[in-house]
Amino acid sequence: MPSMSHDMDPEAFRKEAHRIADWIADYFAAPDRYPVLSRVRPGEIRAALPSSAPEHGESFDAILSDFEGVIIPGITHWNHPGFFAYFAISGSAPGVLAEFLSAALNVQAMLWRTSPAATELEEVTLAWLRQLIGLPDSFEGVIYDTASITTLHALAAAREVAVPDVRSHGLSGRAEIPRLRVYCSEHAHSSVDKAVILLGLGHEALCRIEADAEFRIRPDALAAALDEDRRHGFIPIAVVATVGTTSATSVDPLDAVAAICARARVWLHVDAAYAGVAAMLPEYHSLLKDAACADSVVLNPHKWLFTPFDLSVLYCRRMDAVRAAFSLTPEYLKTSESSDVRNLMDTGIQLGRRFRALKLWMVLRHFGAAGIRERLTEHIRLARLFARWVDESPEFERTAPVPFSVVCFRARATDEFNAALLDRLNASGEVFLSHTKLAGRYTLRLAIGNLHTTERHVARAWQLIQQLAAELNATSGASA
Ligand code: PLP
Repeated sequence: MPSMSHDMDPEAFRKEAHRIADWIADYFAAPDRYPVLSRVRPGEIRAALPSSAPEHGESFDAILSDFEGVIIPGITHWNHPGFFAYFAISGSAPGVLAEFLSAALNVQAMLWRTSPAATELEEVTLAWLRQLIGLPDSFEGVIYDTASITTLHALAAAREVAVPDVRSHGLSGRAEIPRLRVYCSEHAHSSVDKAVILLGLGHEALCRIEADAEFRIRPDALAAALDEDRRHGFIPIAVVATVGTTSATSVDPLDAVAAICARARVWLHVDAAYAGVAAMLPEYHSLLKDAACADSVVLNPHKWLFTPFDLSVLYCRRMDAVRAAFSLTPEYLKTSESSDVRNLMDTGIQLGRRFRALKLWMVLRHFGAAGIRERLTEHIRLARLFARWVDESPEFERTAPVPFSVVCFRARATDEFNAALLDRLNASGEVFLSHTKLAGRYTLRLAIGNLHTTERHVARAWQLIQQLAAELNATSGASA
């Protein structure tokens, strides 16, 4: 019989792993050697790759050569210090190392016994994080992939509480169940829409409440909508309040919203996906104070806690409701220790789960709470500095307050001018910004959150913005 290694030979693995570690180290040393926004045209990457898999295995030399030559040009570099788009999320070296180990272990943490450390490390790490952001220990934590999935689980639990037999009977064809409703601000994330759709409530069941001039939900309008709906026979089941909205990073008034939810006896879910981690800072220590009265809170360490994508956390005071919605144990997954342990498969739709806690644990240990506070504080300082430059410029204006590390602004010009300015900025290869609309006006967003971004990069972005706006003005005369 010819001897055959079933995986890459260990010595070959060692060699390639070193090579890849070197590649990553060089990449992290200078991510700005690439244009931040990929310049490929649609279909270009696909066309550069074979249309069928190789019949025979190929050398790693060949594979890595294509990685560098074909794949990398199609990468938009989220690690680039000029990445200011969306929420400028940032992985980190300790997080990458944890992902490497997690891939090697290939742990699937559905049951406690399928890796006790994965379950218990998740408990310990989420307890650390909960203490750091000041949530009480009545909140139990669980990790999912993204905030969209976390919010889906929270709203599924709210539905379970409102209609306890929904699990067995569903909702369709039941004349005795009035229409259910969920409420959030007009600025809440679209993941709330998707959750409502997926939970079978129908998109019309989502009631978006008007916000005030600073993009925060208006509690009086929320209370009025709940009263009105009850009068018309709807059943309000949940309110989603946001701490750090996607466009303007506004913070809904949690105290007033929590009081309304308590009075109306509806589930309060707090979407703190982006900004929740700021509660670690002394200046923001009361940010989540009133979230203590919420039923659930979502926080995304993959957004602003230097944890490689993906890792989202649900903190829930009623995890029993999540379990009531999702727990289901077929014979082959029954274990003798199930009454003494947590089995993570009980707290969600997924059976299999990646070992995500490892990277959050390594990130928290590597930087320490003080190191994380220092970095968050610096990002907020840079955002305030940029906001000051905008405020001092006669050509630009800010379109929202800056509570955290995102600045919304625009040239004092037409929407078309601002859109053209954004296109030119993003074509520069040096910066990548995104846009939104606030109060009906086209708005540029500069989001800071990347570990590689320094004052020099923010200053360069401002210089480019002014220069390209001046050039555009000269060519188009489109300024207001
Ligand atoms: N909530 C808020 C406030 C967001 O800004 C986002 C995305 O940016 C989400 C939820 C959805 O996040 P995810 O991509 O983790 O699903």
